[in-house]
Amino acid sequence: MDCLFCKIIAGEIPSSKVYENDRVFVFRDINPQAPVHMLAVPKEHIGSADEVTAENSAAVAAIFEAIPKVAAAEGLTGGYRIVSNCGPDACQSVKHLHFHILGGKQLSEKMD
Ligand code: 5GP
Ligand code: ZN
Repeated sequence: MDCLFCKIIAGEIPSSKVYENDRVFVFRDINPQAPVHMLAVPKEHIGSADEVTAENSAAVAAIFEAIPKVAAAEGLTGGYRIVSNCGPDACQSVKHLHFHILGGKQLSEKMD
């Protein structure tokens, strides 16, 4: 499958890794939109939030268990925002489920 994030997870494309376990990979966004901007992805290929099912949702739970660890490691004591763009209306550009973790500054109240 020709998937950019599967290639990053496999190490075929270099990335700045922040955290990894058997189900989850977290790395820095190449085009950061905040002082801290990480992407948390399942190692298993899931196309988007719209493809989460009872069969694969444990991967999502594993991501949400990893997020507080990476947030603490990055010093995001003031909080952070988690965003997952899903589909064309949300401008999803990489078709592998990912959660943006943004922080390190006061973020805008506006989310669209
Ligand atoms: P989306 O627009 O699908 O929600 O988010 C995709 C994100 O992936 C974007 O924020 C973009 O900057 C990031 N991105 C795209 N290509 C690469 C890459 O090759 N390496 C890394 N680290 N991030 C990437
Ligand atoms: Zn993939």
